[in-house]
Amino acid sequence: FIIPEFETFSKEIEEIYWKCKSNTEGKVASYIPQLARANPDYWGVSICTVDGQRFSLGDVNVPFTLQSCSKPLTYAIALDQLGEDLVHQYVGQEPSGRNFNELILDYNKKPHNPMINAGAILVCALLKTLVKPEMTLAEKFDFTMNYFERLAGGEDLGFNNAIFLSEREAADRNYALGFYMREHKCYPEKTSFRECMDFYFQCCSMETNCDIVSVMAATLANGGICPLTEEKVLGPESVRNVLSLMHSCGMYDYSGQFAFTVGLPAKSGVCGGLLVVIPNVMGICTWSPSLDALGNSCRGVQFCEELVKKFNFHRYDNL
Ligand code: GLN
Repeated sequence: FIIPEFETFSKEIEEIYWKCKSNTEGKVASYIPQLARANPDYWGVSICTVDGQRFSLGDVNVPFTLQSCSKPLTYAIALDQLGEDLVHQYVGQEPSGRNFNELILDYNKKPHNPMINAGAILVCALLKTLVKPEMTLAEKFDFTMNYFERLAGGEDLGFNNAIFLSEREAADRNYALGFYMREHKCYPEKTSFRECMDFYFQCCSMETNCDIVSVMAATLANGGICPLTEEKVLGPESVRNVLSLMHSCGMYDYSGQFAFTVGLPAKSGVCGGLLVVIPNVMGICTWSPSLDALGNSCRGVQFCEELVKKFNFHRYDNL
């Protein structure tokens, strides 16, 4: 086993869990009523190792939408289907240093990276327009959900239609980003703007829980092979690229500090989910809806910081 004394390890995780539970900082997202109603008390932590040992604590079966945690997943599919060179003709690899939905492109007039809204909208355009272009939007939705499910070891994902509809209603900024990119001819030819935006909102509205996301994270930790099914879902080159950009860009405008203090690739979402990868060791998902000023889950960030205080999981520990 990769973690030989898993019971002891789980006890340590449990201690960190309880410590973070008493953290009541932050506020739940409020830009749509469906998220504003979220209960800030929810707190779940799930772990899945690359050899399939699992540990879960708290609200790990309560559904929440992936939101921005879908960004590394759609980027991974795009890389796997289209290759790195093609994908990065359209989107950069640089942290933006700005808010995740800031109306800004890089000096080439491309989105900075696939982990912020502009880049993720563009990745959705690539998936819709260049990957199996004959598919309808309905078929592309199924295709993408099926990929997500295989990353999760065959677990069923849900779709939250109320969130999808209100995301789309309250999306002035995302439309502004979308149009700004269209003005600068960022999309591949033949992109349907409306379908691309809908597809982006749909990916954000896929519904999972902590347990399921920890398996997705474990598949990334395991180089693209799901530890539960042993299916090769993604190639290791794609996963390498995904983890690199999660490391530098996955935590909004806290990414640099997170890379410094925690030193692990991670991606947060506005629902309070946090997908964390310890390469070759395990995937972790934490979920707690209260967010800090930068949009990361307060308990999630604290959990990661406590974790690397206790264990040598930081990328540059063990030197
Ligand atoms: N649906 C959200 C948006 O596009 C997702 C962003 C996020 O999770 N930060 O604004």
